[in-house]
Amino acid sequence: MMPTPSHLTKCVTRKDTVIDESPLEADVDCPCGSNMFELFYPGQTTEYNGSKIPVVAEIDSVFFFLIRARCTQCSREHLLLDKDFHGWEGFVCHDKEQAIIPRPELTKWHCLTCGKTPHQACIQIQTAGKQDFIEESEGMFNQDQWPDAFAWFSMRIKCTSCGLVTSEWVSYETM
Ligand SMILES: [Zn+2]
Ligand SMILES: [Zn+2]
Repeated sequence: MMPTPSHLTKCVTRKDTVIDESPLEADVDCPCGSNMFELFYPGQTTEYNGSKIPVVAEIDSVFFFLIRARCTQCSREHLLLDKDFHGWEGFVCHDKEQAIIPRPELTKWHCLTCGKTPHQACIQIQTAGKQDFIEESEGMFNQDQWPDAFAWFSMRIKCTSCGLVTSEWVSYETM
């Protein structure tokens, strides 16, 4: 699996420790030991596979997409994705104008079946590869930063009350 992007190293547990360029799979885990989180998104959703999932939100003509997890034990918040800072678009093509705009207020996700908020979450991240990063970024970055330039971010979530699994709760291409 690819190395863990730097913004996630303190809040995920990798499924294995082998390092290559295959997709990263990791559980979201708080440093306090809990793996139950309330999840936050920018408030807009779309129908997908008979379910409902968060999508990029247009707020006052600005597009936002961020996902935050708040630990139900210690209340610590973990920013899992912000398209303006993470992945290819956010990290490599970083738009300074967009990034200084205040982040929108987020909405708490409620289970579509039981309405409860605590969830477990698993992340999958794909990379375009180290070579691609080195060629495309033309020396603007340290070569070791290639995991931060990931191409695709997905999340699977599970309601800890009723067990409802949403396998592609987030599926976001960053390129
Ligand atoms: Zn915690
Ligand atoms: Zn539920």
